[in-house]
Amino acid sequence: MNKTTTTKPDPQERRGLACPKCGSNHFFVVYTRRVLGSKIMRSRECKHCGRRVITYETVAY
Ligand SMILES: [Zn+2]
Repeated sequence: MNKTTTTKPDPQERRGLACPKCGSNHFFVVYTRRVLGSKIMRSRECKHCGRRVITYETVAY
């Protein structure tokens, strides 16, 4: 058995937030809006329970 075990968490997946309701970190983006030119607001919805979460991202130049 020489299977490579990839127990390492995917950084792309792990970077996200966890749902405050069910703890899931699988979201899909409902909409993206730019705020004040350098901030991005994202409304996400939990894939499991449908809980909406709003996140703000700052663009680093
Ligand atoms: Zn949820």
